[in-house]
Amino acid sequence: MERGSLCVVVPCHNEEQSLPALFERMGTVEPALSRWLNEPIQYVFVDDGSMDDTLSILRDEHAKRPSVHYVSFSRNFGKEAGLAAGLRKALDLGSQFISVMDADLQDPPELLGEMFARLEDGFDVAAAYRTTRAGEPPIRSWFAERFYGIINRISDVEIKSGARDFRLMTRRVVTAILSLPENSRFSKGIFSWVGFKTAWIPYENIERERGESSWSFFSLARYALEGIVAFSTVPLELISILGLLTCLLAMLFLVFVLVRALAFGDPVAGWPSLMCVILLLGGAILFGVGLVGLYLSKVYSEVKRRPLYVIAEEA
Ligand code: UDP
Ligand code: MG
Repeated sequence: MERGSLCVVVPCHNEEQSLPALFERMGTVEPALSRWLNEPIQYVFVDDGSMDDTLSILRDEHAKRPSVHYVSFSRNFGKEAGLAAGLRKALDLGSQFISVMDADLQDPPELLGEMFARLEDGFDVAAAYRTTRAGEPPIRSWFAERFYGIINRISDVEIKSGARDFRLMTRRVVTAILSLPENSRFSKGIFSWVGFKTAWIPYENIERERGESSWSFFSLARYALEGIVAFSTVPLELISILGLLTCLLAMLFLVFVLVRALAFGDPVAGWPSLMCVILLLGGAILFGVGLVGLYLSKVYSEVKRRPLYVIAEEA
């Protein structure tokens, strides 16, 4: 494998406490990577509408080291938009190898050496996944496992359980990722969708040392739903199957009621059963309409063709 340039893309939302530690760790990791690199590592930090001093730290660092670049959004657009902006800039910088890493050091930079070794073996992507979820609330892990189970069954992308966004990719993989024009960008799905030979590197979960996670349980649940809607239409198909089954059952029931009325006359009873059927069907219909609405809302936000993010400042 020829030597090339590496760009590390780091999405940052309120990471003033993590950034100094990250700079330091990367400084110790860099020498070990020199056999694969032909120039110092470039960095693209994406300040995703931070409310703290993240941006001024980045400005200072850029003034000290021109290899540290940054993109600063006009407000918080979310990690996915941050990733897209960072990858775009990495391509613009001409990097041959591009890595994505969280700011909080939950993605150990030391793995980059192992990742390069896998690329040398002929892989296009080397990605990290957690073998344990130690330190995470059990209920959260439980829901996460269910999510991976469901999305792998109903979508045509394979998403590895425990997969992080932490990875090293060749330029052509990143070009493919950015060629997907969609606005709702579920990266785990997009990474898998573009394909290419991917090597998986396991590691033990590391807890965030400084600052706070930007994800609440609710925002994670919405993210999971977004992933399913973005990569599977099975829920839509399920509704029609459900509708068909209910129709068949209703017909059987109709025959039963008719025969009973003809044979035995019809004492006006059956209010409870009628109520049950109406409520059940009403609920199923609402659920179905809601689900269709979910997909429709995605179509709506896609056709608006709004940009993914607005840049206020970059360097
Ligand atoms: N992040 C971001 N925008 C957001 C939320 C998070 O750029 O709106 C960044 C954050 O700074 C971090 C990475 O995405 O570098 C992962 O976020 P976090 O550590 O909060 O998530 P967790 O590790 O808990 O999944
Ligand atoms: Mg984190």
